[in-house]
Amino acid sequence: MKRPDTPSNFIREIIDQDLTINKNRGRVHTRFPPEPNGYLHIGHAKSICLNFGIAADYKGLCNLRFDDTNPEKEEAEYVESIKEDVRWLGFDWADRLFYASDYFERLYEYAVRLIEKGKAYVCDLNVDRIREYRGTLTEPGRGSPYRDRSVGENLDLFTRMRAGEFDDGSRVLRAKIDMAHPNLLMRDPPLYRIRKMSHHRTANRWCIYPMYDFTHCLSDSIEGITHSICTLEFENNRPLYDWILDELDVHHPRQIEFARLNLGHTILSKRRLLDLVKEGRVSGWDDPRMPTISGLRRRGYTPESIRNFCERIGVAKFNSIVDIVVLENSIREELNRTAPRVMAVLRPLRVVITNYPEDSEEEMDAVNNPEDPAMGTRKVPFSRVLYIERDDFREDPPKKFFRLAPGREVRLRYAYFITCRDVVKDPGTGEVVELRCTCDPATRGGDAPDGRKVRGTLHWVSASHACEAEVRLYDHLFTKRDPDDAEEGADYRSNLDPGSLEVLPSCRVEPCLKGAAPGSRYQFERLGYFCVDPVDSSDEKPVFNRTVSLRDTWKKIEKASA
Ligand code: ATP
Ligand code: MG
Repeated sequence: MKRPDTPSNFIREIIDQDLTINKNRGRVHTRFPPEPNGYLHIGHAKSICLNFGIAADYKGLCNLRFDDTNPEKEEAEYVESIKEDVRWLGFDWADRLFYASDYFERLYEYAVRLIEKGKAYVCDLNVDRIREYRGTLTEPGRGSPYRDRSVGENLDLFTRMRAGEFDDGSRVLRAKIDMAHPNLLMRDPPLYRIRKMSHHRTANRWCIYPMYDFTHCLSDSIEGITHSICTLEFENNRPLYDWILDELDVHHPRQIEFARLNLGHTILSKRRLLDLVKEGRVSGWDDPRMPTISGLRRRGYTPESIRNFCERIGVAKFNSIVDIVVLENSIREELNRTAPRVMAVLRPLRVVITNYPEDSEEEMDAVNNPEDPAMGTRKVPFSRVLYIERDDFREDPPKKFFRLAPGREVRLRYAYFITCRDVVKDPGTGEVVELRCTCDPATRGGDAPDGRKVRGTLHWVSASHACEAEVRLYDHLFTKRDPDDAEEGADYRSNLDPGSLEVLPSCRVEPCLKGAAPGSRYQFERLGYFCVDPVDSSDEKPVFNRTVSLRDTWKKIEKASA
């Protein structure tokens, strides 16, 4: 098996050691095991990149396995979305798509084997009593009164559990390990429970369902997994993982734990993300503010940017919070190189160039991406009536405001120098509704032949040529870096930012954006990176999502000059 050239980490070191001693005859086989009870998020992406990435680097294999042992919360919709998201991220499970539920029959046989070995028993205590008997970290547990049932009785009861003779919660199958074990999970953990509920794949065939700990290790074993990579919370479950596989004397993968991804200003709990969706606090799982893969995709993130992010943050054995700027930078860097630049005006202010002939128009040459000359140039129409950004004009400019103001000259990007001569206001409200400017024809293209300089360069569009568009600006869903940092009696919901979505319904964009393909990405000069919304956009009226601003300091700059 080939040693990869990619930078090492503690997981790769373990695999390298295993390869050195020819463990698993040099095979490397991982899996990504989502539970289909929600949409995948950026934390899952870390696990996907790790599992599929390691398999690819070592010329091994990676399975996609649905850990679908909980009939209550699982749905086919989630299965489909997970497959779509893994594929979109650029990974391929080939013919290795599995479901833990496909192993139900074999898992049942394994459970029977444990009973036959005297290593599992049917217990009639209910959940509360089991907890009571379990003891605490400082006190040993007590053995269940049913702990010493005979193998014959256990086999009979387990068969009848399966046959549906008993009510939900009335009995469980438990491993017989050690009620005084320092690890609470080893104090005779439940392996099977009764749940008379239809399952998304096995329908009503089963009324007993295997517990996660029992299912997971055996599914790994059945699939011939060599390295079972999971997050740190499962460190405590490892002794049980090992115990079950040792007792059954089956193929024994090695469980390795790594720190899960935590992101600032973000929650990565499927349960809470589901709450946000159900409570209507976001428009759905694919709301562009959501940290889900589908949300990030709709927001304009690319698979490359997410993979680069996952590589950049690396893997460690201790938990930490990654700054959301790291994620934003990964897409910013990519789009800086790849996105064509165009001009768009989000809050239009009308500008009339009074010395420009009414019936005239011309085309200006604009560079598509100065980072990449191969992307070429385009023509941008110019005419007498234009729109500029409302923010780019101040009647009474503060210090360091270098944009347009009465009497001041600025450059219109790729066009002319213009000077503001007059300000037209709404007589009722006093609001500025139009600027009357003159242009210097000698500055065509954006440079003055006499070498005179202007401090400001503005973007613009020609009013009669521009295309109307809706633009959606996003901010972090949560105001605090740690959304759990809430007042007494409140929860993470109190940290939701009510201003995290701003809709600008009548923006004007360059005519070349008319009919732009859903999902296509652009830099709007000076404003950020934008992506055509794949859901709400139409040919008549494109809708753009702001993926990310140009710099993370942009907001501050805007505020400072406001
Ligand atoms: P649940 O509470 O529903 O179990 P989960 O986030 O653990 O939520 P799973 O579907 O079990 O969801 O996760 C699939 C895989 O993704 C697991 O191996 C899990 O360890 C990994 N994973 C989940 N969240 C993160 C995260 N934030 N960072 C890294 N890996 C994660
Ligand atoms: Mg989980």
